Amino acid sequence: MNSATVMMAEMTWPEFAERLREDTVVFLPTGMTEQHGPHLPMGVDHLLPTAIAEMVAGEVDGIVAPTVNYGYKSMPRSGGGPSFPGSTGLDGATLSAVIRDVIRELARHGVRRVCVIDGHFENLWFLNEGIDLAMREVGDPGFRVMCLQHWEFLNRETLERVFPDGYPGIELEHAAVLETSLMLHFYPQLVRSDRIPDNAPMDAPPYDVWPARPEWVPGTGSLTSAAAASAEKGALMAEQYRGDMAAAVRHELIE
Ligand code: ZN
Ligand code: MN
Repeated sequence: MNSATVMMAEMTWPEFAERLREDTVVFLPTGMTEQHGPHLPMGVDHLLPTAIAEMVAGEVDGIVAPTVNYGYKSMPRSGGGPSFPGSTGLDGATLSAVIRDVIRELARHGVRRVCVIDGHFENLWFLNEGIDLAMREVGDPGFRVMCLQHWEFLNRETLERVFPDGYPGIELEHAAVLETSLMLHFYPQLVRSDRIPDNAPMDAPPYDVWPARPEWVPGTGSLTSAAAASAEKGALMAEQYRGDMAAAVRHELIE
């Protein structure tokens, strides 16, 4: 048995207790279960933050708590929306409550540093709400939490290399070059390489409607072409995550 694991779910309770120090960072990956085109599995939004958290935890001697695999409801203009079979969303208050409860429990165990790494665009404000509620419940000014969505760490130089024709923005990048490349790097066995879509970008108006209009969304479920994805681009982004996220975590939570 590998006692050097960073994954909390693989630790015994004495191993977990032994690993906790004042400044041990516990990473909490969050995401979603939602369609990601014909070529990627529906776990992309939680598989990627889990792999990224494991990588960064290795850099800072941290621990990765079990991932929150469901997230806020898929919206048509950023994830294809609710019409695809399998896209399984939580009410916002439910997600906030899960985040609040998990962070409060970690604090009760003696954790003093938490870093939430998210992989689903629509989650952000409900995560912020859950963290804020947890801070209020924990009531300890020395308890510190950090929250990030992984793509925010891609700097201009990396984006220019991954998107030589221009970055279309994170909303359109659903199941496209960014996520497909990262999946080819972290989980190549899960990518259906013969089904990578090459459809035109989504052309939706600048607003949302209820009920959602499935016809706004490209039939593949990818909101723009994924044809330019590659494992090399995924490795480039992953290396930037490794260095820059570890530096940010050290700066905010450890030093
Ligand atoms: Zn995604
Ligand atoms: Mn998503």
